[in-house]
Amino acid sequence: MNVHDSEKMAGILKAGGYAEAANTEDADLIIFNTCSIRQKAEQKFRSELGRIKLLKSKNPLLKIAVAGCIAQQRGRDILKRSPHVDYVFGPQNIHKLSAMLTTNAMVCIEDNPEIQHTDLPAERKENIKAWVSIMYGCNNFCSYCIVPYTRGRERSRPSQNMYKEIHELAEKGFKEVTLLGQNVNSYNSDTNFPGLLRKIDTIKEVERIRFVTSHPRDLSDELILCIKELPKTCEHIHLPLQSGSGRILKLMNRGYTYEDYLEKVRKLKESIPHIAITTDLIAGFPSETDNDHSMTIKALRSIEFDGIFAFKFSPRQGTKAAEMEGSINEEIKSQRLNEILGLQDDITLRKNEALKGTLQEVLVEGASKKDKGKITGRTRTNKIVNFEGDESLIGKLVNVEIRMAMRHSLEGRLTSQS
Ligand code: SAH
Ligand code: SF4
Repeated sequence: MNVHDSEKMAGILKAGGYAEAANTEDADLIIFNTCSIRQKAEQKFRSELGRIKLLKSKNPLLKIAVAGCIAQQRGRDILKRSPHVDYVFGPQNIHKLSAMLTTNAMVCIEDNPEIQHTDLPAERKENIKAWVSIMYGCNNFCSYCIVPYTRGRERSRPSQNMYKEIHELAEKGFKEVTLLGQNVNSYNSDTNFPGLLRKIDTIKEVERIRFVTSHPRDLSDELILCIKELPKTCEHIHLPLQSGSGRILKLMNRGYTYEDYLEKVRKLKESIPHIAITTDLIAGFPSETDNDHSMTIKALRSIEFDGIFAFKFSPRQGTKAAEMEGSINEEIKSQRLNEILGLQDDITLRKNEALKGTLQEVLVEGASKKDKGKITGRTRTNKIVNFEGDESLIGKLVNVEIRMAMRHSLEGRLTSQS
């Protein structure tokens, strides 16, 4: 989501006559698009901000802006403590960027409940895959999460706005769109999320549609049917579980039990046998016992995700979980996280190996970075495949027979059917 926000900032600047600097030292404007989802992201920003200070003494024209969720939460504080920062603006005020620069307004961090300001010209670096926002903000207030505080209330874009944007992308040659929202399953405008997918699936030149993130509570049978039936909607769902313990899920305010989650997974696998399911997990949520943790381990074993993102719980100021009793010490959090990641590594490899010998449709994205001379792309289930082929295939769908499986990628051979 932040990457796409940066594309929007770049689009606004380009429209305002700015051009991208070759490197940081040459820039007259530097924008930090910050993330505050976990402490680690905040720390990275703080050290970068310190480093950039020197540049200002070399270039007196240099302006520094801090955008994103840290700016939203601590904008005024940043201005006070870091006099070298000229502007702060939050993720709900990206549309005000050019006005800020011309009027020298320093702070834009108010809540922006209006949806009409969000259709911004994104300047995309890639030309095959594009992010497309379908909604902003979040109403869920999971107890650990800062997003509802920084990105505000949930707002859905009207479907014709996305339809128009995706048409334009298709005309420019983009082949894949990923619909973005904190909780796409609760998309609600002139249609619901399945309705939106059905509409976008009719856009001729688009080959693939993906979406993130799905909230398990709001995953409907209608959506499962869409993934099954719609030719362009890919058979992959990112469905964050967070914990395998019902008690912890309740404390997290996730709105589903582990059994509810399992039932959704069962339905998904029953309707779409080859679907890839990935998830997010948090290790060491306040009061998490060894027993709770072992329930997460058990969940990994029984669900067998295709991939996971797992994080140590990070208390975020202002959230309920940051005030909860029973905080887990860092060492135990690390142990639990490592156990989760280690187990999943084995599962991911096993699942990838099961693909050996199968034919996979791959959208070719470019030259392989790791494997010189090869090209690379992704399967419909979002797995990376490297294979020998001509760069003229970039942007095309080809059939690849999987020959070898690694943990993070597959290797294959282009088939004659391509
Ligand atoms: N809207 C998405 C999640 C967005 S945040 C959803 O509900 O699924 C992405 C992930 O970051 C979350 O799924 C969660 O696993 C993790 N995360 C969020 N806040 C966190 C925190 N305070 N500590 C650790 N991980 C966190
Ligand atoms: Fe955060 Fe929960 Fe909203 Fe996801 S659904 S953004 S985890 S509050």
